[in-house]
Amino acid sequence: MVQGRSKQVSDWGAAQRNQAGFARLDGEAFPEFEPGTVWLVGAGPGAPGLMSLLAYHAMQHCDVVVYDALVNPDVLRWVRVGAELEYAGKRGGKPSPQQRDISLRLIELAKSGKRVLRLKGGDPFMFGRGGEESHTLFKSGVTFRIVPGISAGVGGLAYAGIPATHRDLNHSIIFLTGHDATGAMPANVNWRSVATASPVIVMYMAVKNAAEIASALIAGGRDPGDTMTFVSNATMPQQTVMETTLGAVEAFLADHTPPTPAIVVVGNITPWREILDWYGGDLRENPIG
Ligand code: SAH
Repeated sequence: MVQGRSKQVSDWGAAQRNQAGFARLDGEAFPEFEPGTVWLVGAGPGAPGLMSLLAYHAMQHCDVVVYDALVNPDVLRWVRVGAELEYAGKRGGKPSPQQRDISLRLIELAKSGKRVLRLKGGDPFMFGRGGEESHTLFKSGVTFRIVPGISAGVGGLAYAGIPATHRDLNHSIIFLTGHDATGAMPANVNWRSVATASPVIVMYMAVKNAAEIASALIAGGRDPGDTMTFVSNATMPQQTVMETTLGAVEAFLADHTPPTPAIVVVGNITPWREILDWYGGDLRENPIG
């Protein structure tokens, strides 16, 4: 089976090999980006090269891109000339547009017959409000497509040499947000259960409440000696990684300010980082990733 598949791939390769670079995407049967529709697309964690081919295709065929604060502006390099760019994040101290306003804007653009590319950081359905936006589109009768992206809590960790799972450490993983709609630590997370349910806990939007979360995990039975790792600006040249422990994080944060955005990982992943921390030196100078 595997052999058959690799033969097929090499045949395809021979037929395509004399065509250069991205030009050969033109020959592929990508889905048509219909006027009056919205594509909710994940741009990945930052490095432009981590976007999918469908994301690239959408950038080449859209009329307007509505993008979030967390989208690295550098990924917009592939938006076709002539498409409009609309920023939907916080700007110049003005409050960020309400979620409802963004959804209404998407509907308005789609109903005016545009091909609307809604570009979000990471994966649109992973703490990205893609569910809310697509629900609103559905209710308005606007056709949409979801293009998943590489989520910071998986792909971002890979750039820090942290495998999300490793058979020697974890057979499960928990993803959670450290932030509810008001900015507080989410009350509807069962911290007691989460504390001991998995060797690895990956937290989005958790820097501000990290000390409070650590206390809740320790109160739930988690070892205070477990590592807490902050991976900031993952996949970007300015990526940094800081490590402390659950028991020491409060004191640590009095002296250190992990840059944001950051993923906070709880779990003893340090031994893997020592071996697998591959993203450094000249590699960071490549603008694609
Ligand atoms: N949909 C996104 C998450 C949006 S929530 C995804 O799938 O990745 C925003 C949070 O994502 C940030 O607070 C941070 O925790 C995380 N994040 C996004 N990009 C990041 C990056 N490049 N490095 C570290 N964390 C990132």
